[in-house]
Amino acid sequence: MAIRDYGMVRPKDRVIVAGSGGKDSLVLLKVLCDLRRAAPIDFEIVPLHIKTGFEDGFERVAAWADQALGLEIREVRTDIARILAEVSDPEKSVCALCSRLRRGHLYSLAHEMGAASIALGHTRDDIVETFLLRCLYTGQMGAMRPARVSNDGRNRVIRPLAYCPAELVERYFSFLEIAPVSNNCPIRSDGKRALVRGLLKDLEKDNPKARASLFAALGNIDMKSLCVREDRDAHTH
Ligand code: SF4
Repeated sequence: MAIRDYGMVRPKDRVIVAGSGGKDSLVLLKVLCDLRRAAPIDFEIVPLHIKTGFEDGFERVAAWADQALGLEIREVRTDIARILAEVSDPEKSVCALCSRLRRGHLYSLAHEMGAASIALGHTRDDIVETFLLRCLYTGQMGAMRPARVSNDGRNRVIRPLAYCPAELVERYFSFLEIAPVSNNCPIRSDGKRALVRGLLKDLEKDNPKARASLFAALGNIDMKSLCVREDRDAHTH
């Protein structure tokens, strides 16, 4: 279990759960609520919804969280939709900017609220896709750690679903009997991510364990076989 392996939740932690209201974030919220009920330690769950301005159906999800989980999801209004509409450079990834803006809001709020960590709903598949995207488009090997301290050192980010295949999360979601918030963003999806998803599907036709193997590789690195120059290596230590 990723939560145990990475020591994600500690006694008395206040954990902010970032929710778009999409399937992954609702499953994350439910899993953490179930864990809190069963765990021998006490921790607090604070669900936050950072509004981009593109969502539809948040009230329905908020009512479900209230009735099924006994939790109030705090809604945070932002001007993200307006900022994105002003991006005119087609070379710039609007989705990357969008996620940076959402993260900025989350980090500031978490700091203000004295939260121990921010839980994000990324799945194993998101991590593998990010790994390929970074390798293929930025020339850098990296992914998303299941638990890490943010670059400015102020926040701890945890990804409790890091070991869960997206398909499993999707199946679990179907038992929750709730329609997710729909995203009416005109951009809809990141083209490069869609391309990488297609690539992974093709790979799995030949090797059904391709995604699982790529994820395992991220925790099993043969450093000596990589092409890191010694001068660069020295600077990073
Ligand atoms: S599709 Fe729209 S809402 Fe989603 S990350 Fe991209 S810009 Fe943001």
